[in-house]
Amino acid sequence: MAPDILITTLIDSQPGTGMRLGDWTFTLLSDGRFRLDGGASFGVVPKPLWEKQIAADGRNRIPVALRCLLASGHGRRVLIDTGIGDRWDAKQRDIYGMERRAGQLLVELESAGIDRRSITDVVLTHLHFDHAGGACLDLADGMAPAFTEARWWVQRQNWDWAHGPSERDQASYRAEDFEALADTGRLELLDGPQEVLPGLWLQPVHGHTPGMQIPEFRTSAGTLVFLADLIPTTAHLHLPWIAGYDLNPLLTLSEKRNLLTRALEDDFLLVLQHDPRYETCRVAFRDGRFQARETGSLNGGLTAPVADAAADDTAAGRPDTPGVAGE
Ligand SMILES: [Zn+2]
Repeated sequence: MAPDILITTLIDSQPGTGMRLGDWTFTLLSDGRFRLDGGASFGVVPKPLWEKQIAADGRNRIPVALRCLLASGHGRRVLIDTGIGDRWDAKQRDIYGMERRAGQLLVELESAGIDRRSITDVVLTHLHFDHAGGACLDLADGMAPAFTEARWWVQRQNWDWAHGPSERDQASYRAEDFEALADTGRLELLDGPQEVLPGLWLQPVHGHTPGMQIPEFRTSAGTLVFLADLIPTTAHLHLPWIAGYDLNPLLTLSEKRNLLTRALEDDFLLVLQHDPRYETCRVAFRDGRFQARETGSLNGGLTAPVADAAADDTAAGRPDTPGVAGE
């Protein structure tokens, strides 16, 4: 039996330090890690190709980071996504290989000296359990928002879908994650792209699930994009590498092409929510494909040596996937 994956060099910035871009300052927070089926994570891509990028464990699962982005600027503190949260029983934690402390995201905020009541805005990219799982806490008198003073930004289309998903994706939505937000009076349901704060644009995309929104911070010093599940890892930069979870993969394909074309032209800094190795990257178009030009961490900069973003069938000479040991 293959050993479980050991990640020895996972790059997650220490909370409490920030990276400044224009008039916004960014910090990445982690809600731990979990694992997803490798096949489902790479769709039609054969395992011999994807496992060169991210090795699977003995149960065919790949490690998945759970990053949330904290952005401060214009007198606001904006949290992008809320992690997977605590409301999981032992069997579920085993199935998903969860590695996290209780309340990890809240603990990280606290250790960064940030009172969660000071979060003014929470952007939920979408309501899948690994993005909205920490939005509400299970208190003695029922579910209540974890960020009591925040406005909550969600696309209406995703809110509606989450209340009636299909049989194919209903396991990805749990109503108790987000239902209590409706009673706050601060739930902001958006109808399409909008600049919700100076420079912060929320751009809907629909291939992964209807009404996912991609946060883009357009600043005088450059643009930072939080990729959410549109491009979960650097391996997914390659256009045809699309997760089997996506409900409309051809739409994802065109949405990836659009974003990556813009990212290439204007040298966007891309934040990878789920990549087990890298927090951030910039892209290049080489050998007929999009791939990571630079990878690294938000606070440490993009100094890592170039690593190919996606495997192909001519993998000779590619360096081993750093930090990931597998079968
Ligand atoms: Zn998702």
